[in-house]
Amino acid sequence: MSAIKKIKIEYEEDNPNASSSSNPGRGLMVSSMMHPPKQEDTKEDIKPHIPKHEDTKEDIKPHIPKQEDTKDDIKPHIENLSCESEREQEYKQRVMSNYQPMHRELYEMNPPTFFVPSFLSAIHDNTREGFKRIITEPSPGILTFQMLKPEFCKMLMDEFKNFEKWAGETGTRIMHPTTMYKYGAILDHFGLEKMLGRLMEDFILPMSTVFFPEVGGAMLDSHHGFIVEYGAGADVYLDFHVDDSEVTLNVCLGEQFSGGELFFRGVRCVKHVNVESELDEIFDYSQVPGRAVLHRGRHRHCAVSTTSGHRVNMLLWCKSSVFREMTKDEQNSPSWCGICRREQN
Ligand SMILES: [Zn+2]
Repeated sequence: MSAIKKIKIEYEEDNPNASSSSNPGRGLMVSSMMHPPKQEDTKEDIKPHIPKHEDTKEDIKPHIPKQEDTKDDIKPHIENLSCESEREQEYKQRVMSNYQPMHRELYEMNPPTFFVPSFLSAIHDNTREGFKRIITEPSPGILTFQMLKPEFCKMLMDEFKNFEKWAGETGTRIMHPTTMYKYGAILDHFGLEKMLGRLMEDFILPMSTVFFPEVGGAMLDSHHGFIVEYGAGADVYLDFHVDDSEVTLNVCLGEQFSGGELFFRGVRCVKHVNVESELDEIFDYSQVPGRAVLHRGRHRHCAVSTTSGHRVNMLLWCKSSVFREMTKDEQNSPSWCGICRREQN
């Protein structure tokens, strides 16, 4: 297999309409790096290049996320960390006061009904050895482990379907998770914010403290939780990008599908985001319902086409405003970037 000759990466950001409860500063930095979207780009956005296996090795055309409304939403100052846009606040309030949850038990963290015993036991031990018992690391920085019970996966998918149904019936336009999605929904918007906060603090933070301390994994303090949907009548694939997160949790919930692999292509700093992959950075992951993938936000990835069936994933972008503030002026080469590390050796 040959290395990628050229990867063009775009930054995936929170939906600008639903922007940046956690970090306006990063949003600014990221968007100032992007080419300003033109009319053609927006059209391409509707019919973008479909990444296939051969393509990923040679030439990936960038997906240009839509940037409508970003001017209002991206705030250059960091002091106001809870600056949800007015539009997002209104939307969230309308949903929260009108939407009737289907499975109320999802809205309060209840570890024994959410998680498989092996995961609970590792979190309880809270040691590197304990985590290593459940984690597989098929490629450096890609941690996978069994996490969610099938019953929980089903309940969350049902809740999402119920939410979509409610939105359809009430004429509510669903705010999508990021600029790169046309389907899916932000879980924080319909009451799951508190539960997902506990998920990050009590279950992800202990692991990211051990495995990703150099990217702020020990100081996560906010999240963006969402559900994405692939297949007929939903998104088909997701172009190469890096997440606007320090650490990303990605768990497939179901259902029956083929395709939809996650392609990982190395971790990159801002300066090196488009530099080609090394052979040992190329890793393709086949998704399994209930099984989690935990990786650095700066680990470049895409989801290839879900060729049949229907696939739903839950994502939790875990962020650290403290880490971003600490590192915003840093010019030195971060140890976690594959190219910086190579240059240092
Ligand atoms: Zn670098």
